[in-house]
Amino acid sequence: MEDKMQVLIDGAERDLLHTYNRYQIVLDKGEGVSLYDINGKRYLDFASGIGVFALGYGVKEYNDALKAQIDKLIHTSNLFYNLPAIDAARKLKRASGMDRVFFTNSGAEAVEGALKAARKYAFLGDGRTDHEIIAMEHSFHGRTFGALSVTGKAAYREPFEPMIGHVKFAQLNDLDSVMAQLSDKTCAIILETVQGEGGIYPVEEGFIKAIRQLCDERDILLILDEIQCGMGRSGYMYAWQKYGVKPDIMTSAKALGCGVPVGAFMMTEKVASSSLVAGDHGTTYGGNPLACAAVSKVLDLFESEHIIDNVKLVAPYLEEKLDTLAAKHDCVKGRRGLGLMQGLVLDRPAAPVIKAALDRGLILISAGSDIIRFVPPLVISKDDVDEMISILDESLSL
Ligand SMILES: *Cc1c(COP(=O)(O)O)cnc(C)c1O
Repeated sequence: MEDKMQVLIDGAERDLLHTYNRYQIVLDKGEGVSLYDINGKRYLDFASGIGVFALGYGVKEYNDALKAQIDKLIHTSNLFYNLPAIDAARKLKRASGMDRVFFTNSGAEAVEGALKAARKYAFLGDGRTDHEIIAMEHSFHGRTFGALSVTGKAAYREPFEPMIGHVKFAQLNDLDSVMAQLSDKTCAIILETVQGEGGIYPVEEGFIKAIRQLCDERDILLILDEIQCGMGRSGYMYAWQKYGVKPDIMTSAKALGCGVPVGAFMMTEKVASSSLVAGDHGTTYGGNPLACAAVSKVLDLFESEHIIDNVKLVAPYLEEKLDTLAAKHDCVKGRRGLGLMQGLVLDRPAAPVIKAALDRGLILISAGSDIIRFVPPLVISKDDVDEMISILDESLSL
């Protein structure tokens, strides 16, 4: 008998552009922290669609809110106001402490908007058009040209040069390396509060505080990219809240809509009142009623389901179990991360371990070639951690 799943995969490989090395399974449905392929095989999900599905799958209240909005109104364009966007913006301001919100369709698009706002702010300040942005090595901000231009992995950028230009790179947690790139043209410093794709590197408190001070002294804007580490994953709604360092501009996406494509960039009133104005920026879909109904309901559920309390409860347990595993296996060099965003550093490629785990019903992803990344739904329990650890233990022993 021909394998139905393989037939589908072969078809996909003929039709889709080859830009991904996909896991060789076709997913069909999700429930809680489990995913099922089309043959009904269950997988424990420790990836949540790359840090997106924070609430777990099949949450009735969330699904019902989307269904109700579909029946009412899906799209309006930004020529009009719509109720879910008004609602979502108010709630997102409260959750973030920022003053103004612009909704986008993706994370990369949020980064684009953040960069444009920063350049406009600087332009209005001194009328120059040669402003520079400092970004970090190992950073990841997305695949569009602006976002790619501040992404600290040369291999991602090189084939697509020239980038937007006037971008300098420094090392995360190394103030001297930032000072070395600083000039009177610097208008913004952009970084992820916890670097994700680049290998799960949390920012150090001393570094982020020094960067904040530097920005204040020189009227440079601090842009924090919280697309992956934000939305409760760190144990705080946004990871910068842990350090008491507030950005001038920040980005959010991934878990913001829990699966409905939506992102946002937000700013303080200081930036908003002196940067983008009508005609400077726009999007056809961004902030549409369906996407914003998702954001609005996600933010409600974060409160009513005490999502961040669960992160605070389970994350230390996950850390402890990963540390035990690291001590047991010679091939594991260590662990780093914040909250439910963790990385296990191997002395070898992570791919075979991830493949072995997948065969045993556990979905894991990597961050770089030799780091196993853990970005589970934020509703996982200690029992889920135990199940994950037992499969990973076996997969590391092969
Ligand atoms: C995923 C990610 C992005 C890009 O988001 P997309 O929705 O894929 O465009 C940007 N920044 C960070 C930190 C991310 O993790």
